[in-house]
Amino acid sequence: MDSPIWAALSAAERSAVDELIRRDHRLPAAVRMREAFPAEPRPGLYETLDVVAERYRELGVSFERRPTLPLDLTTLTEQVEALPGRTVIVGAGPVGVTAALLLARHGVRSVVLERHQDVYPLPRAVATDDEVRRILQAAGVDEEFDAIARPARGLRLLDARHRVMAEFPRAAQGAHGFPQTSMFDQPALERVLRAALARAPECELRQGVEVTGVEQSGAGPVQVTYRRAKGDHVLLAAAVLGCDGAGSVTRAAVGSRWEDLRFEERWTVIDVRTSLPVHCWEGVDQVCDPARPATFMRIGEDRYRWEFRLPDDARLDHERLRELVAPWVDLSPGADFEVVRQAQYTFRARTADRWRSGRVFLLGDAAHLTPPFIRHENSTDHLCRRPCRRRVVQRVAREPGPGRDCSS
Ligand SMILES: Cc1cc2nc3c(=O)[nH]c(=O)nc-3n(C[C@H](O)[C@H](O)[C@H](O)COP(=O)(O)OP(=O)(O)OC[C@H]3O[C@@H](n4cnc5c(N)ncnc54)[C@H](O)[C@@H]3O)c2cc1C
Repeated sequence: MDSPIWAALSAAERSAVDELIRRDHRLPAAVRMREAFPAEPRPGLYETLDVVAERYRELGVSFERRPTLPLDLTTLTEQVEALPGRTVIVGAGPVGVTAALLLARHGVRSVVLERHQDVYPLPRAVATDDEVRRILQAAGVDEEFDAIARPARGLRLLDARHRVMAEFPRAAQGAHGFPQTSMFDQPALERVLRAALARAPECELRQGVEVTGVEQSGAGPVQVTYRRAKGDHVLLAAAVLGCDGAGSVTRAAVGSRWEDLRFEERWTVIDVRTSLPVHCWEGVDQVCDPARPATFMRIGEDRYRWEFRLPDDARLDHERLRELVAPWVDLSPGADFEVVRQAQYTFRARTADRWRSGRVFLLGDAAHLTPPFIRHENSTDHLCRRPCRRRVVQRVAREPGPGRDCSS
């Protein structure tokens, strides 16, 4: 192996990395390799992942376990019909509802348990890629999504004086037949998904219920305990999909823990509705100013988002806001400029070290978190999710669960 990164590692570090690879811990192996370098400049995560891939080959371990081949439709349907219990999905965020719709297409019945009475109303995700469009198409909501989405032209990296350093164009129609980047508001997407769920006879949504525990013992059914106003209830499930976000309760049932990929930054996110003329190129601006990194993008006809890394104690009064957005829009007093939402987020990069145990699976933010920068997560994040979700759907459909479906 002739990688200079590998050559620079001590024998002890190499053997620790190899041990992680033998246990199929790909990301921890890459992180370990990176952190073996005591000071910057350290190799980047992607460079170390390349070395890890090479080590997988040399050690004779396949880099990615092959997903099981899809079953033919007849076998799949027979096995699905033999399933004695329903699949329980914890969380009706975008991932949980999409998973329920995909399972429904395979004839698998599910019950989705959601803590809130309605979709989370405030903006979060705003951009996605054409791979995700294909998932939405498979879930049967591509036309509805098209009606709420707006294609974006790509990403520009700007310097501190807003001069273009690099541009990454995204086609209006990519290889998958969809715009390579689509802008949208997450609550609008979630409403589209919930409406499709209501139309699917295989799916039942129970809202206003808090899942408090997920337990599986041996080959028996998985026991899901949830609380609703009138007390505690138990549901026996053929399989459980933990789509319950970053604070997942399902993660404990999988025996999983977070691998911290060492990114943590606090950013202020400002969502705006305005009819003012905004200087924008219909794509995403990433301002690479070390003193004040920022992101800007148009989301809809009159919807825009700014993100700034500001000090924790920064006050965002009108004057300060005016100064921050000045490169894009002239915010004179009394102008039509509605701040739909302003919030501080701590963006983290984490991945759960196990995504499955027996018949319990982790999906979406319950399995991994990616900072939403350079809108990169829309491809990498969901590309990770997609094969995972496909495998989950196949496995849930293939493995007969032992349980009855009984709620009390
Ligand atoms: C500011 C910001 C910008 C972002 N931008 C993008 C972007 O541009 N593109 C992108 O792809 N992603 C983006 N993201 C990330 C995106 O919002 C998340 O990845 C996405 O919401 C994850 O979906 P999910 O269904 O896995 O989890 P969630 O959306 O968190 O949904 C989990 C659901 O589970 C429910 N739940 C949790 N615990 C329980 C329980 N015990 N019992 C019952 N129900 C429970 C919750 O109420 C919730 O409805 C952004 C996030 C933020 C904060």
